[in-house]
Amino acid sequence: MSKLLTAESQELSELLPYNLLSKGELKEIASLLEFPKRIAITTHHKPDADALGSSLALYWYLRQKGHDVTVVTPSDYPAFLNWMPGQPSVIAYDHGKPSEKIKNIFSDADIIFCLDFNSLKRIFDLGDWVAGSRAVKIMIDHHLQPEDFASFNVWNTQAAATAELVFYFITLLGDHHLITLEIAQCLYAGILTDTGSFRHPSTNRTVHLIVADLLRIGVNPSKIHKQIYDNNNLSRLRFLGFVLKDKLIVDKELHTAIISISKEEIAEYQVDTGDTEGVVNYALSVKGIVLGVVVIERKDMVKLSFRSVGNFDVNTFARQYFEGGGHKNASGGKSEKSINDTVEYLMQSIKQNKNNLAEAYDSYFKTL
Ligand code: 5GP
Ligand code: MN
Repeated sequence: MSKLLTAESQELSELLPYNLLSKGELKEIASLLEFPKRIAITTHHKPDADALGSSLALYWYLRQKGHDVTVVTPSDYPAFLNWMPGQPSVIAYDHGKPSEKIKNIFSDADIIFCLDFNSLKRIFDLGDWVAGSRAVKIMIDHHLQPEDFASFNVWNTQAAATAELVFYFITLLGDHHLITLEIAQCLYAGILTDTGSFRHPSTNRTVHLIVADLLRIGVNPSKIHKQIYDNNNLSRLRFLGFVLKDKLIVDKELHTAIISISKEEIAEYQVDTGDTEGVVNYALSVKGIVLGVVVIERKDMVKLSFRSVGNFDVNTFARQYFEGGGHKNASGGKSEKSINDTVEYLMQSIKQNKNNLAEAYDSYFKTL
């Protein structure tokens, strides 16, 4: 495999996780992809840059290999991802509007790739269609505690982004030379955002080596950064101003900062999909905070985002109290209660974790 990599990325090849798939699995997948197939790619609800970027990167790769490929998302996604090469071909499922066309994409598929999620609940209605399809299912994901629904799991929780795993997947199949500029741009976006612009603890040497390789292929990091982070419309900035001024509540004793946003506030500020992304990071950025939470009243449910530092495990927290999950320091969940009842229940749940929060605070902030 390594001889297919360029000299610049020779060092990277030594760091590739060759145990990501066994030799037998790699061979099986390679033979599945040998002849043209109908392939569906799907990713989680409200896709972020890693979800959509890794899906589109895989889309471009599989197309080059001669397959008929369709990307279907279980919902809409932020407009700041519209620059992604291949985005116009993505089919976004409109929740509540049953679609025969989309159903058939899954039932007629030979292979379904499930990217950046590991529980069929994360794709809502599409979950039944994926489960019911006779297609071979390949999951590529980096979240904790995967469910057992796929034939192949390209799964590693150490990976900073699913995009990193897609890079490995292509490379392990011996196709590193097929990583085009389009693929590299999509992968870069996924790694950029899932590492919080290269600052989360998942950011390691391998991540930077992969990114260096993507830059060698021609990615312009500054332009992609601009597309993703400096694409605010005025209403989002006004909304952010309102949230920071009026909605951010800090409980120093519990080392927690919470922001809750009601349906009425969403309507008043004309908040769009994606406009709330990143808001939770402001909660976590308050000095001394271990747990940051955003609670948002969406149309059909109350959605929660959790971020933490150090040993406070928000994957476990989200699973225990909010039917959710994710990573140790970044997770999400939902609630069927009203927004007020959700916030009350959240506060009780946080209080039950007072000791864990205090321990996480001591170990994180007192020993830098
Ligand atoms: P975010 O707060 O940005 O929506 O999500 C943070 C992380 O948790 C992401 O990796 C996301 O995929 C995951 N996540 C968000 N909501 C849920 C959920 O309801 N269930 C599970 N299992 N994971 C979630
Ligand atoms: Mn991800």
